[in-house]
Amino acid sequence: MFFMYRALCRITLLQMVIGCFLLGASHTAKAQYTVHPLLQNGPLDRRMTIIVVSEGYKEEEIPIFLADAQRVTDKIFAASPFKEYKSYFNVLAVSVASKDSGIDWYGWGKVRDTHFNATYNDCVGIGVCIKPNADGSYTWSDFKWWMYEKMGYLDPFYMMLINDEMDAGTSDMTARGGSDFAPVVHELGHQFFLADEYIKPAHSPHEARNVTSKVEREQIKWKHWIEAGTPLPTPQTDQYKEKVGLFEGAIQEKGWYRPQLECKMRASEHDFCAVCKEAIISFIYQDERWSNRMTRIRKFLPAAEDLILKSTESLQLSLDAPLPEHGLLLEWFIDGVLVKTGAKELPVTGSGLGVGEHTVELRVKDGTPYVRDPVILPELTKTRTWKIHVPEPLSSPGDLNIANIVLGQNFPNPVQEITTFKFHLPKPSNVRLTVHDILGRKVAVVTEGAFKQGQHQVDWRPKSLGAGLYLYRMQVGSTTLTKQLVVQK
Ligand SMILES: [Zn+2]
Repeated sequence: MFFMYRALCRITLLQMVIGCFLLGASHTAKAQYTVHPLLQNGPLDRRMTIIVVSEGYKEEEIPIFLADAQRVTDKIFAASPFKEYKSYFNVLAVSVASKDSGIDWYGWGKVRDTHFNATYNDCVGIGVCIKPNADGSYTWSDFKWWMYEKMGYLDPFYMMLINDEMDAGTSDMTARGGSDFAPVVHELGHQFFLADEYIKPAHSPHEARNVTSKVEREQIKWKHWIEAGTPLPTPQTDQYKEKVGLFEGAIQEKGWYRPQLECKMRASEHDFCAVCKEAIISFIYQDERWSNRMTRIRKFLPAAEDLILKSTESLQLSLDAPLPEHGLLLEWFIDGVLVKTGAKELPVTGSGLGVGEHTVELRVKDGTPYVRDPVILPELTKTRTWKIHVPEPLSSPGDLNIANIVLGQNFPNPVQEITTFKFHLPKPSNVRLTVHDILGRKVAVVTEGAFKQGQHQVDWRPKSLGAGLYLYRMQVGSTTLTKQLVVQK
């Protein structure tokens, strides 16, 4: 039955486009659909959504459909790279009862009354497809429109689960067949713009992320995966089983090539090849033409980029996003100095930053080993910048005149071994000069005591303090002045 699936499987771009855009659908569907959340990793509008739909299940078979939908979900997220990016997805199952069980076997005399009118072998080419209703409408399109009206735009990938023993699949529909919806992940691959890598003599081949007719190394779109010593075209032997190369036979026996000996786009029992994995991840990151996928999935808070933070206030900066299985590399910078790694949040205080203009940056990098394409690679690193203005605090009457207390910039700065602080007092005062980390925690006392009126200087060694940005703070009565210094090791 596996070979039958190979022969029947095909992609229809038109159906895929309808799936993405919900175009051309009239809305005649009645509210006979029941939505069951199967996998919930976040708000619906902040994740990609896979919608698994029943076809050819009778009313009493809906529990079977729900069990099937769960198995299909498990199957999808057992396959790399969906496995690694599972947290980026939600899955909804939608059940609707059909009068009959199974679907039409056109030309073989089996006719069933099913909800979406799915059939074998009666479409353009071969495979499984949808037949129109008598008025020319398609219940499948109407359903997609119904979903859109009910749930809003979900960036959906649709997968119709067909309750029938024939093996077949077509991009957004898969039958159970003899082997538990075997092609379902392969079919989902089509929705990520992957082409078939197996031989389909009746089809004309076309260039795709994973199929090419080019044989010159420099012209091969996946050349960044091919080692210098790998011959092109590549012999179809076990010696090159783990290598990316140029393997003849993709859609046509001759003249068209695939990246690896085995791949899920060639036979569904295999994993996706390196190039197909990369293409799927690229689709998540790069395809911003229609849906701005990553800008929906990933939020930086606060959303405003220009902020005012009083000396007495504090603020949490954060990344609100799912993490892939391998995590994300997160680096926080204040005024260009790395201050924290690995955390989704950075708390800052106005007094910690000190009076003035500051820049806080978060660099987010996905270090997945599955992407090497120099065009895609930069998409995996994103830097978000906040400008934070900390205004001069108002001095209260009765304080020392703030204008006459002067705290100079330490020298040298950055500090390696030793640095000098200078300050000026308008009258004899008690002074406390301290050093703080960027969260405002005191890490050193430079000096503390009574000083005469006039100019003073104090030397200080950072000793065991780690490299990074620090604040130094001079307290004179109720007046506090703050400046920054950098320790370099
Ligand atoms: Zn492949």
